[in-house]
Amino acid sequence: MLLFEDETNTNDTDAVASWDLLRDQSFTVKQTAPVAAGATRFEAGNADRRITVEDKRIINCKADVNQLVPFKYHWAWDKYLSACANHWMPQEVNMSRDIALWKDPNGLTDDERFLVKRNLGFFTTADSLAANNIVLGTYRHITNPECRQFLLRQAFEEAIHTHAYQYIVESLGLDEGEIFNMYHEVDSIRDKDTFLLPFIETLTDPNFKTGTLEADQSLLKSLVVFACIMEGMFFYVGFTQILALGRQNKMTGAAEQYQYILRDESMHCNFGIDVINQIKLENPHLWTPAFRDELRGLIQQGVELEYRYAEDTMPRGVLGLNAPIFKEYLRYIANRRCQQIGLDPLFSNVTNPFPWMSEMMDLKKEKNFFETRVIEYQTGGALQWD
Ligand code: FE
Repeated sequence: MLLFEDETNTNDTDAVASWDLLRDQSFTVKQTAPVAAGATRFEAGNADRRITVEDKRIINCKADVNQLVPFKYHWAWDKYLSACANHWMPQEVNMSRDIALWKDPNGLTDDERFLVKRNLGFFTTADSLAANNIVLGTYRHITNPECRQFLLRQAFEEAIHTHAYQYIVESLGLDEGEIFNMYHEVDSIRDKDTFLLPFIETLTDPNFKTGTLEADQSLLKSLVVFACIMEGMFFYVGFTQILALGRQNKMTGAAEQYQYILRDESMHCNFGIDVINQIKLENPHLWTPAFRDELRGLIQQGVELEYRYAEDTMPRGVLGLNAPIFKEYLRYIANRRCQQIGLDPLFSNVTNPFPWMSEMMDLKKEKNFFETRVIEYQTGGALQWD
């Protein structure tokens, strides 16, 4: 069984550690009275002048993290705006065709049902893991407000994704105990999560602080594992499977939800890669040959784990898909991730066997959204004020 860190732990030591982190990485208020011109307002960083873009850094920044502008990393703010523009909620997607198909004894083959269940078995807990990693880990160590703004949005999207998987499980009337426990009962799913845990624990450890070569490399390694392997590789067998069902006009509601999730996740992956590259730029001493070799080894391990998951979800060919096709796809993705963060490719002579997946990532919500939405979610304009 996997053991996750107790998130409700609020003992005094942790409280002190959290306060230290806030104080060290942002500011300490020295006085409460209005600050006279030229007087020291903050103990660390910009003592007696306004913050400029030159003061800002992704990690180990001493400037006040509570001040959003002036923007330095426009890509982070642009991604935050794009993510907000892509907002969606699971209940907006009509699941009635999926429910009818699932109930019909001849609606899906046994292999297709097996695939759907194992698929959900990974995803139902994967996005909780991603959310916890951001909220309890990554967020604390990224000392830049525009990047934090994106991370706040990303954390909510992870919650929406977990909601979407729960909504699919509930709609189809699946055995919740079976699906939600697969992450420690099915080897290939458990192995993926077990691989991730040490990297999450690094960031969520209350005693972990950046600022040394070793700690900064640990942070960077965890960011690479999350962006390039978790969000950039471990999701892709599963996304392709459900979208392949949708392309055959099966489980179209679930497929529509996965399309939105894929679009969100490709944004998370790209944001993570931008953060990684910016940290590299600002801290070139971290990017040693030994460190690069270690990262390539981890990506290679990610390919093997995801391939085992492909075999485990598709013991026989299904939907025109089979595990060997995914070996090629995962190698293609691994090379792409290496290239995106400036590592040498791991595999030679690989091509993308699923070019249609790239089109799915660029989906415009408006394309079919309003035809399929079934209910309105409550917005500010719908609130009563009497
Ligand atoms: Fe994500």
